[in-house]
Amino acid sequence: MIGLMERQSHHTFTPQGLRGELRRSEPMSRHTSWRVGGNARLLFTPADIDDLCDLLRQAPRDETLLWIGLGSNLLVRDGGIDGIVINTYGALGHLEVRDDGVVRIEAGVSCPKAARFCARHNLAGAEFLAGIPGTMGGALAMNAGAFNRETWEMVQAVETVDRHGRRRVRRPAEYHIDYRQVTGPADEWFVAARLKLDPGDGHASQARIKALLNKRAESQPVQQHSCGSVFRNPPGDYAGRLIEACGLKGARVGGACVSAKHANFIVNTGTATAADIEQLIEAVARTVEEVHGVRLRPEVRIVGERDAWY
Ligand SMILES: Cc1cc2nc3c(=O)[nH]c(=O)nc-3n(C[C@H](O)[C@H](O)[C@H](O)COP(=O)(O)OP(=O)(O)OC[C@H]3O[C@@H](n4cnc5c(N)ncnc54)[C@H](O)[C@@H]3O)c2cc1C
Repeated sequence: MIGLMERQSHHTFTPQGLRGELRRSEPMSRHTSWRVGGNARLLFTPADIDDLCDLLRQAPRDETLLWIGLGSNLLVRDGGIDGIVINTYGALGHLEVRDDGVVRIEAGVSCPKAARFCARHNLAGAEFLAGIPGTMGGALAMNAGAFNRETWEMVQAVETVDRHGRRRVRRPAEYHIDYRQVTGPADEWFVAARLKLDPGDGHASQARIKALLNKRAESQPVQQHSCGSVFRNPPGDYAGRLIEACGLKGARVGGACVSAKHANFIVNTGTATAADIEQLIEAVARTVEEVHGVRLRPEVRIVGERDAWY
């Protein structure tokens, strides 16, 4: 529990000597693919990893830290984030093929860019990333996957930073890796992935990327603001199938609507609040449980305050 004095000192926290961009009261709706969410007290876009470590060394020890990539799996509540948001996208953007053939991709690189980079270097196996509208950091955090491939299948090592700004290299064996879920050392976040891929043919990879994107466009409402699949698939079934069988396609709360194209997507029709979306998520889960006896678990991460901190 943080006392009033500490809270006030957090609110006046002014780090020194940073090279990146620090914004105060930044609307999170600008940083989430659902385009909803209240203000972050501070949002920091570092110039590079050293700059990020510099901020972490100065931040109050008990400060709330939220890491984001492209916010494509994130529901930020309307009351915003009373803490520091670390924005990696457009910041930690370096990628290279090292002499040992390992691809090093920093956390803020978008997944489609990473997929195209690997294809250009005749490396196969990362094509599925092309359809995931997040960052490499988000893909590591979520073990993002598609078309029977998952991010951590490719990971040789990850580079991390902790809340004291200390950097480490860790191996997959140090994490518990599951379907859309990764558990590792507490208070540590990803700054880069090191991927081991098979030699391949760039043209074949490009063709595969094109085919995967076409398939996706046919089955998902890719032109609307969403967070992709809202619920995790329960063992042996599909959340979308269960939701559709309840007749919930088109169900609405305010400006939030269950997609008519893919029942596991909730789209913002333009006027949704985070509260609309969260209520619709709860209503869908309740109905599916009543009808099918299956409790769906959200895949999207729901964070932030219900009531504004500001
Ligand atoms: C149209 C659409 C289609 C999608 N299709 C797929 C799909 O096929 N497969 C799939 O798996 N997902 C899919 N998603 C969901 C989403 O794109 C992925 O989960 C993606 O990996 C999230 O990346 P992000 O950078 O947007 O993460 P964010 O949404 O910004 O963050 C997600 C979580 O990761 C954490 N995080 C972010 N960066 C870091 C970091 N550097 N270190 C530690 N933690 C971090 C955040 O704190 C948060 O808990 C889809 C989303 C959309 C909108």
